[in-house]
Amino acid sequence: MFQRILIANRGEIALRIIRACRELGIETVAIFSEADRGANYLSLADEAYCVGPAKPSDSYLRIANVISAAEVGNVQAIHPGYGFLAENAHFNEICRSCNIDFIGPSPEAMAALGDKDSARKMARKAGVPVVPGSEGLITNPDEAVKFAHDVGFPVLIKATAGGGGRGMRVAANDLALKSALQQAQAEAEAAFGNGAVYLEKYIEQPRHVEVQVIADHHGNAVHLWERDCSVQRRHQKLIEESPSTSITPETRKAMCESARRLIQASNYTNAATVEFIVDRDGNYYFIEVNARIQVEHPVTEMVTGIDLIKQQIRIASGEPLPFKQEDIVQRGAAIECRINAEDPQRKFQPSPGTIERLIAPGGFGVRWDSHAHSGYVVPPYYDSMIGKLIVHQPTREQAVRTMLRALAEMRVEGIKTVIPLHQEILSHSAFADGRIDTTFVERTFVSE
Ligand code: ADP
Repeated sequence: MFQRILIANRGEIALRIIRACRELGIETVAIFSEADRGANYLSLADEAYCVGPAKPSDSYLRIANVISAAEVGNVQAIHPGYGFLAENAHFNEICRSCNIDFIGPSPEAMAALGDKDSARKMARKAGVPVVPGSEGLITNPDEAVKFAHDVGFPVLIKATAGGGGRGMRVAANDLALKSALQQAQAEAEAAFGNGAVYLEKYIEQPRHVEVQVIADHHGNAVHLWERDCSVQRRHQKLIEESPSTSITPETRKAMCESARRLIQASNYTNAATVEFIVDRDGNYYFIEVNARIQVEHPVTEMVTGIDLIKQQIRIASGEPLPFKQEDIVQRGAAIECRINAEDPQRKFQPSPGTIERLIAPGGFGVRWDSHAHSGYVVPPYYDSMIGKLIVHQPTREQAVRTMLRALAEMRVEGIKTVIPLHQEILSHSAFADGRIDTTFVERTFVSE
């Protein structure tokens, strides 16, 4: 087992990893930008090093600085968290060449599954249903139009290097498709340095359901059931839950097994999320793999009782998985609300600044994962999420009630948050009945 780990991240996930390491008896080295200097969670690490100015490209994303901190801190491994360098195969490779274990997949598996077009090919090979789409990358408008006529409009243009919804465009006719193709290519080139795109059939009002998988270095891979992340705004997840209300037990089994098979067939190790969309008839289709721990991992932890961060660390240090597929039971219902510092009254503009007062909820079945506290200053440079509120109860109905009770207890003063929107969503009859899809929030609550 490792003695010392560097955490190449900030905020709630840095704190989440510090907590897991503390319980495992592992020392931690944190990093911070000038904007995060003095943040309370840093004092819980054994050491902390500044890696540069506020701007992510000058600090958390600056590989040379992160590696220097790891060398000075004398660590054996790096946990990248999510975002920043977490899915950067180049960084992963540099860790390897510096003899530092990367807590995640190998650079090769990361590159193969992180590229969406190549992941689609691997999924097809592993017999996993994939959204009908172009055979490979699309290079000219005529090919795109031909594909759209074959599968029918609307179609979705996606960047193979894409993430966070960037480089993604819906097109409903020939003309729109041709111009959207150019826009998507330019956007992907600017955002990812790779303008390659492909096409998918656009699935109307789909559900987003994803499967958590973990695999060790001894050939074992297990799934930890699914999470439903259909409550989204602009393709950004707001609420996640497990189990999903939109699939039958048979679909659940088939989908989770497909995900496990894909990860095993790809020689992938550590944690991965295999994302699917489910159409109105209940058919499921693979869309992509996230080669890292995800924001919403706590809902899976609550229903399975498995600490995913500790498992990631154990796997990276070479330990075999301590359980078999049949040991992993999905117990009760868990829901997570992302608490973002955004103003729902002002088109969800970020609302950074000082939290004058923060009172976090508690009680039976409530978990609050956050680095924020009264007096904490939310910097304007990073993701607007200040914490995650998670509940776990024997049934979904009880979990919804506990979440509403917890949201009502929570006080965040000085900045705006999305708490009022969460309260509206959780009180809505369509949510109670599980009649939601990825367009539900925008159709029902958000007027823009
Ligand atoms: P990114 O990596 O940019 O987040 P994803 O491929 O994960 O992109 O897709 C993000 C979201 O876009 C999904 O959760 C879903 O809401 C929507 N989406 C993706 N593919 C399709 C599709 N073929 N049809 C309809 N919606 C889709």
